[in-house]
Amino acid sequence: MRIRTLVGVALLSTGLLACTEQAAAPAHAAVSADAKTLQAHLEFLASDALEGRDTGSRGHEIAAQYIVSEFKALGLQPAGDDGTYYQRIKFRRSSLKEGSANFIVDTGAEQVELEFGKEFLMGPSAYAEKSEVTAPVVFVGYGLVSEEFGLNDYANVDVDGKIVVMLSGRPADLPSEEGAHLNSSKTRFAAERGAVGVISLHTPAREEVRPFKVSAMYQRAPSVTWLSPDGEPNLAYKNIVGSAYLDYQAAEPLFANAAISLDEIFAQLEKEEQPKPFELAVAVTMSRASEHEEISSPNVAGILPGSDPDLKDEFVLYTAHSDHIGMTQDLSQDDHINNGAMDNASGVSVLLETARMFVEAEQAPKRSILFLSVTAEERGLLGADYFAHFPTVPLQQIVANVNLDMPVLLYDFADVIAFGSTHSTLGESVAEAAGQYGIELSEDPMPEQAIFTRSDHYPFVKKGVPAVFLMTGFTAKGEGENGGEIWGQFFAEHYHRPSDETSLPINYQAGVVFTNINYEIGKTIANDPERPRWLPDSFFADLD
Ligand SMILES: [Zn+2]
Repeated sequence: MRIRTLVGVALLSTGLLACTEQAAAPAHAAVSADAKTLQAHLEFLASDALEGRDTGSRGHEIAAQYIVSEFKALGLQPAGDDGTYYQRIKFRRSSLKEGSANFIVDTGAEQVELEFGKEFLMGPSAYAEKSEVTAPVVFVGYGLVSEEFGLNDYANVDVDGKIVVMLSGRPADLPSEEGAHLNSSKTRFAAERGAVGVISLHTPAREEVRPFKVSAMYQRAPSVTWLSPDGEPNLAYKNIVGSAYLDYQAAEPLFANAAISLDEIFAQLEKEEQPKPFELAVAVTMSRASEHEEISSPNVAGILPGSDPDLKDEFVLYTAHSDHIGMTQDLSQDDHINNGAMDNASGVSVLLETARMFVEAEQAPKRSILFLSVTAEERGLLGADYFAHFPTVPLQQIVANVNLDMPVLLYDFADVIAFGSTHSTLGESVAEAAGQYGIELSEDPMPEQAIFTRSDHYPFVKKGVPAVFLMTGFTAKGEGENGGEIWGQFFAEHYHRPSDETSLPINYQAGVVFTNINYEIGKTIANDPERPRWLPDSFFADLD
């Protein structure tokens, strides 16, 4: 396994860590976050009146207008479209037409039609209302390509104009964050090589983590894609006309003419061997009909100009998603509103308080600060991804992203986890900032989650912007209080449920500390003569 945390490990094991004595604020800090203000923001954003702030809903529009009004009151400069704070985004919501999905294997000897929902799953197309593709099929292992990890599942096969079959998941020996990034790039790898269809194959290993039946239950949700200013859906995968997810128990016809059986391939996986790509000598037809609907939802952007004549054209970017998942469809419950108090009314409140602190600080930061609330995080980081594709300031001038998502403000945390801190020089800024408040920097307690690839900073990381994203750690200051347990309980009982609401025992004092640290991080970056850099050995240093 590749060791990727050298600097992070060094940070954690040397004197750079904060001492554990409790300090409310560093002596020299002139500004501090305010608990009452955080509470006021959070209670408005998480109120029932906003109905869960779903992308494109009236409730989310009201949340966005609230953020605009706050930015205006603070005197931030509008940084959206046409001199406004709004960056208005059009989205396409696509749904599969009932009964339209087909999957047929032609083995030469017979035609085998698979059963939708039982043997294969298929989502809608964002590109066409009617799509159909028939092509020969090539098996490509996990479908991964990485020079760094010595992977090329497309070696010596031509997939141009063909449908690829790839195993879901990835080799167990890939580190989690890098593996998650590669995993999310599989369709792109196929598209770049001219494939016209992608079949992902469920595996016995996957069945143990998430049974095929469970995936089938979530099948009906519509998918959302951003549209470019001229109305085109994100074109990354346009030549992929068909795609499906296939249960391995239904995959036999695909391997009817193959020299190696699927069982032998699964046996190779068990022995951690890499299955080789080969032509399956069958043809598959996939077809579907999709319905498209256009919705609109805004990002909100404001700038505090920097004070240094040379550095003010560079930006430190704070992000927090203002959307949540809206109303629940589960009518068995009395409360149907997913208020998203921790997800992410809390993060937006921290963003607004951070903006106020920068505005009211005695000294303006040298670099400019860009505050951005993004929409459609819950639909796949779409608002952030749109901004990263169509930024309202030059992307190369964004020196760093500090992301705020779901700070669980339910206990006096004694440590923070800083996703991304081991990949760039931002790790030093975080350790320094947290240390000022007597907060330790801990190692990621759940690396298997690859959280670094799962929030709004990730689209910026993919464009080369170093990023850091703080989470409250698993150690609590209070006697008899177990941070990890409280965090885990929140995740198990309230995450993405109507009970993520203001009736939770929210600890606004913890919010103050969390905000102060995030403020200090941004301030340090804004005033540092050097801009942050990726560490040379980081996988994320040079992605595209
Ligand atoms: Zn969420």
